[in-house]
Amino acid sequence: MSKGVIFSGMQPSGRFHLGNYMGALENWIRLQNDYDCVFSIVDLHALTSSYDDTSKLQDNIREMAIDWLSAGLDPEKNIIFVQSHVKEHAELCLLLGMNTPLSWLERVPTYKDKIVNLGSQGKDMHTYGFLGYPVLMAADIMLYHANYVPVGEDQAAHLELTREMVRRFHTLYHCNIFPEPQPVYSKAKVLPGIDGRKMSKSYGNTIPFGASPEEVTARINQMVTDKTRIRKTDPGHPDDCVVFKFQQVFNTEEAPTICERCKAGDIGCVACKKALAAKMNALLSGIHAKRQELEKRPDYIQEVLDNGAKRAQVIAAKNMAEIKKVMNVL
Ligand code: SF4
Repeated sequence: MSKGVIFSGMQPSGRFHLGNYMGALENWIRLQNDYDCVFSIVDLHALTSSYDDTSKLQDNIREMAIDWLSAGLDPEKNIIFVQSHVKEHAELCLLLGMNTPLSWLERVPTYKDKIVNLGSQGKDMHTYGFLGYPVLMAADIMLYHANYVPVGEDQAAHLELTREMVRRFHTLYHCNIFPEPQPVYSKAKVLPGIDGRKMSKSYGNTIPFGASPEEVTARINQMVTDKTRIRKTDPGHPDDCVVFKFQQVFNTEEAPTICERCKAGDIGCVACKKALAAKMNALLSGIHAKRQELEKRPDYIQEVLDNGAKRAQVIAAKNMAEIKKVMNVL
């Protein structure tokens, strides 16, 4: 029996990497068995920061759908769709924008950070849409009466704002139609990039999601290891080694032994990397094969997204009618 409705989305902002998978998607795959999940490729959110270059938007949407399906998200169990294909997201965002205090949006911790960060890259983020990002996010969640939202600890403030907006809506319009969405904290496994910094496309240190076994092995061979270790017999420091961080995620059974052997100078980095490549490829080669197959089936991908949008639209239209009724917007 379902434990409730979950809404979550991801921005289609370029090729997915393994860090994205371990950070969120792997968690979704688990949740799909216990909840009624609505998963959206949130293209309107992508426009809040990439409004000046939309040339790759459709490609990115398609790639993201392929990533999700090849990872194991089931379009029968979940509603999988593109946000802009269900117009009610924009409509509810507009209505909620009428009663959301500006100060609530200005105090969102990530707002000022992003203005500064993206501003330093030459992008003007002083836009109406960017400030209103949390309103659109609240609309996404409220439109499906979601009970839960999977969040990382750093996104808790956004969800708290949605909860405040739910309470304000109920007070203003004397109703009680939305659940106050609760966070589902994921035990996200954080993967560093192959150079030890945060895994990020802008650093060129990622392992692409759906990479071939050859690509995975090549990227492992480039990983930074304990720099103080010159010979195989030198005692190593696994905590200072990127390979070991990956062993702890992908090779949990052998990681404790590898740790001891590394400290004792009893295993070389080449053998250690080889063991990691074997484990990662055992897990990822299936995803790679599935991705290859789906890339040849654009009609199927379109069908999944069209069906998802139809299913989402039925719920959105029904809930939107109720929302407009209590607001006397008929
Ligand atoms: S043996 Fe493994 S854990 Fe130790 S430094 Fe080399 S790659 Fe890292």
